Amino acid sequence: MSAAVALLAVATAAAAAGAGPPATPLRFHGEWRQGALLLGEAPPGCAIRFDGHDLALTRDGVFVIGLDRDEPSPARIEVRTPGAPERTLEYPVAPGDWKVQRIEGLPPQQVNPPPQVVARIRREAQQILAARRASSPLDGFAQRFIWPVHGALSSVFGSQRILNGEPKQPHYGVDLAVPSGTPVRAPADGRVSLVAHDFYFTGTTLMLDHGHGVQSVFAHLSRIEVRLGQRVRQGQVIALSGASGRATGPNLHWGVSWFDNHVDPAALVARPPLR
Ligand SMILES: [Zn+2]
Repeated sequence: MSAAVALLAVATAAAAAGAGPPATPLRFHGEWRQGALLLGEAPPGCAIRFDGHDLALTRDGVFVIGLDRDEPSPARIEVRTPGAPERTLEYPVAPGDWKVQRIEGLPPQQVNPPPQVVARIRREAQQILAARRASSPLDGFAQRFIWPVHGALSSVFGSQRILNGEPKQPHYGVDLAVPSGTPVRAPADGRVSLVAHDFYFTGTTLMLDHGHGVQSVFAHLSRIEVRLGQRVRQGQVIALSGASGRATGPNLHWGVSWFDNHVDPAALVARPPLR
C-alpha cells in the first residue's frame, strides 16, 4: 500500500467512525516497509513524534523517519497541529524479506569472538551508537543518495546467520565488492561524525551525519581522507576501501541508520527525488 493510500485509509476509517477529524496534514514519500527510510512533509507548526523522537522539520517542512529491519506493525506517528488535539496515525508496515541462514556444528571459536576482545568490542559499539544518536539540522538526508562505490552487491541488507542455534546480529548494511584502494564517495551531503582506525569488527571506520538522525557508516576501509567534523558534499571522496577488521575479503560495507533504527541503503539510492 502506498503512503497516500494508507493515509487515506486512516482518514476514511476515522470519518466512517463518526469522529470526523480533519484529514491529516502529513504527506509521506516512500513505502511503509521494514528497513525503509521515509521522507515526510508537514505544514509549519506541526509537532511530530515517532519511536521516541520529536522530529525536526526543515525550513520547507520536510522530515524523515526510519523503519527498522524489525519494525513492528503498525507504525504509530503522533502528530499535533496548532489548535488541534494530538492524534495518533497508524500505518501498517510490510515485513522485509530477509535471508536467514542456519549453520550447525561449527567450532565455538567461529561462533563467538575470543573473550579477551569482548570489552573492546563493547567499547567500540558504544562509540558508534553515540554517533548514531546525535541529531543535527543538516539536510543531506533529503537528497537522492548515490552509491559510494560501484561494485557487485556481495551481501544484502537484513540477512542473518544462526550459528549453532545462536542468532547473530543481522547484516545492517550492504557489502559492495571492490578492490582495496577504491575511492569511496559521500552518498549524500554530511559531516564526518566518527573516524576510527582499528575497530575489531569494522576495522578502519568512518561515519557521516546526514542530519535529522540519518547517519552512514563505512567499514573495512584502508584509508580515511577527511577529518572529524569536516563538512562533505555528495560525491566527494572521503576514504579508500579495503579489507580491515573482520572482512571476508576486500569490500565496502555501507550502513545507514535513523537513530537506533537500521535501514536499507540500497532503497535510498533507488528512491525518486522528493520534488
Ligand atoms: Zn557488511
